[in-house]
Amino acid sequence: MSKPKKEIQIDKQTDEIKQDAALKEAEASKQAVEKQAVADKSAEEQQIQAAEEQVVAEKVSEEKAESEQVVETKAESEQAAEAKADEAVEAKADGTVEQAEEAKNGEAGEQAAEAKAEQAAEAKEGEAGEQAAEAKEGEEGEVAPRVEQADAASEAEKPEEETPLLRVINLKEWFPIKQSFNKAKSVYLKAVDGVSFDLKQGKTIGIVGESGCGKTTLGRTILRLYTPTDGQIIFEGKHIEKLKGEELRRMRPHFQMIFQDPYASLSPRLTVGEIVGEAVKTHKIVPKEDYKDYVVDIMLKCGLQPHYFERYPHEFSGGQRQRICIAKALALKPKLVICDEPVSALDVSIQAQVINLFKDLQESDNLAYIFISHDLSVVEHISDEVGVMYLGNMVEFGSKEAIFSNPMHPYTEALFSAVPIPDPDTKLKRIILQGDIPSPAHPPKGCKFHTRCSKCMDICSEVEPEFKDYGGGHFVACHLYQ
Ligand code: SF4
Repeated sequence: MSKPKKEIQIDKQTDEIKQDAALKEAEASKQAVEKQAVADKSAEEQQIQAAEEQVVAEKVSEEKAESEQVVETKAESEQAAEAKADEAVEAKADGTVEQAEEAKNGEAGEQAAEAKAEQAAEAKEGEAGEQAAEAKEGEEGEVAPRVEQADAASEAEKPEEETPLLRVINLKEWFPIKQSFNKAKSVYLKAVDGVSFDLKQGKTIGIVGESGCGKTTLGRTILRLYTPTDGQIIFEGKHIEKLKGEELRRMRPHFQMIFQDPYASLSPRLTVGEIVGEAVKTHKIVPKEDYKDYVVDIMLKCGLQPHYFERYPHEFSGGQRQRICIAKALALKPKLVICDEPVSALDVSIQAQVINLFKDLQESDNLAYIFISHDLSVVEHISDEVGVMYLGNMVEFGSKEAIFSNPMHPYTEALFSAVPIPDPDTKLKRIILQGDIPSPAHPPKGCKFHTRCSKCMDICSEVEPEFKDYGGGHFVACHLYQ
């Protein structure tokens, strides 16, 4: 049975209404999706824009910092260039003004002086112009390299200050002869009486003077074989004048002594290997297993064959024994070696070998020597500086060249006049000192040399002369120059 026509029409209308509703809903959901997509896109664009802005801001700040740095560097460069220009101009002006004055005083007269002055002014202007141009170039061009160059130049101009390895300040070593509760009545033998000097690493100071002047006592006191009565001994910045016990023992390897008599300074009961290596073991310079190799190396360095290791000192000549003494001292890797007349007991030919060995070892190990001798030609050969001692005092001190070419103290002149000249045609002008060296227990008042000095003045017997620098580190104690 078919539906009535009216119902069919109603159904049709209902379906149409439903379809319209579905279409409207679909359209609404599509619009919502599109809106969401648009919103997402705008948010993403905002983020990208913010990131770009941040990058741009960072770049701008970096560029600003760089430009500030460049400005600073330029300013420094300008200052350096200006300073350099001023110095050059001043130097030029000084030099030219001096030239102008000389010309004025000379035969050329006023005209020449004027011409010179004009030249000076021109040169001054030219120099200033050149310097200004250089400074301008520095501004425009390679700023950083120029600043580096200026820094390097100023570094190079700085004077190099080398701290001395050893400083001896007003050192005194008095031995009591007669002691009393009243100190004024005590009598002392003043072997060293106020000696001062500096010694640099790798250098040699020669100490000369006649027997009994205190050279050996000075060496032994510096080495702390004696305790100083007064004064300071500063080794590598450390005061060693009052060190005792373990502290002093630990310092011992740094300073060694080579004695005058190689026959007496070696034990006849020990082999060469034992003599050289004894202190190496005591101070644990090398591990036990390396001990023999180390000792043999030192022996070879000092010109001793390895098979001498098992031999005894009496089997050797004087020169070889002195080499054993040198090897013994060097085995402890010292920085300072005090050589007390190390070649005076040797033949002249052997002396030359040993002296050359000292020089070679100084170069290879950067050693400092205090070379005590009364042989002036040996001292001249080996020393950088020379000190002349008389009756416990240093009377003259200076560079080897200054002392040997221009001896100022009358005692030094007398010593040098006794040096033989290997030329039969040259006549020596010897200065013979009168009398004996006075007793160091009762030294003369005033200048201690006045009893024997041919140039003695009234003041010399009353006032002790000051030990003063007369230029270039040439110290002298004499009233002739004061
Ligand atoms: S101070 Fe007088 S006595 Fe002493 S060395 Fe000089 S001149 Fe001679």
